[in-house]
Amino acid sequence: MRRPAPRERFLAGKTPFEAARIVLFGCPFDATASFRSGARLGPDALRAASDSIETYSPELDADLEDISFCDLGDLPLPADDTEEALGLVREEGRRLFSLDKIPFALGGEHLLSLPLVEAAREAHPDMVIFQWDAHADLREEYLGEALSHATVMRRAVEAAGPGRLFQFGIRSGTREEWRWMRGRETRRNLTAEEVETALRKSAGAPIYLTLDLDVMDPGEMPGTGNPEPGGLRFAELSACIHSLKRASAPIVALDVVELAPPCDPGGSSAVVAAKVVRELLLSLPNS
Ligand code: MN
Ligand code: MN
Repeated sequence: MRRPAPRERFLAGKTPFEAARIVLFGCPFDATASFRSGARLGPDALRAASDSIETYSPELDADLEDISFCDLGDLPLPADDTEEALGLVREEGRRLFSLDKIPFALGGEHLLSLPLVEAAREAHPDMVIFQWDAHADLREEYLGEALSHATVMRRAVEAAGPGRLFQFGIRSGTREEWRWMRGRETRRNLTAEEVETALRKSAGAPIYLTLDLDVMDPGEMPGTGNPEPGGLRFAELSACIHSLKRASAPIVALDVVELAPPCDPGGSSAVVAAKVVRELLLSLPNS
């Protein structure tokens, strides 16, 4: 069977760059993956899967055809040079913020959030981070590396400053990571109510939203490098996304990371991820 050619753009992302408020770009990189790699193939799979879903969201009564977004395709990231890859993502983030866009990165592994958080912090010094993830990602280092998908939120906190991390849905980590989260009260469940409470607490501060797809249950999202039992169903995640829209959450940048297509031969994870991206696109400010 011949595979269809990779789709160049996420479903309906046809607004010219100059006019687009939201800008998608792929980050095909997974050099620090520890258990199962393949997240570098995430952006392609996500775009291809977007062909199979509708542009219209019945729950939001909103359509991708009516909002202003474009898809720049993938950044040309080196496969094995982490610092260079992060530098390229940081530069792209800076460029998009300088043009008053909302950068929306498609991973790729979770470490890619760090350079975009750094760029967002330069543009919005009072920014807070909403992390939706099964894992704390707060290790000081992992396998001898300070820069890893398992340390990314620790580095992000260093970049964003204390008291700015809101963690949702974390259900796995080391004793030290749990001690860190308990001591700072950063962790909460991922429910629409908790999202609304956190939005009130962050009091209108600009938000960086990072969505690690393994926050979902492996039953519905098997295509991820580090599946963690006991996660959310799509309907529950979707309700959380919609709560962002209801509250007009001031999201200034976001990413959806850790889709690893080779881990899901059936391919449905990419479809779920595409639908997550659709609901997010339809829930962002000015869309
Ligand atoms: Mn995770
Ligand atoms: Mn993560």
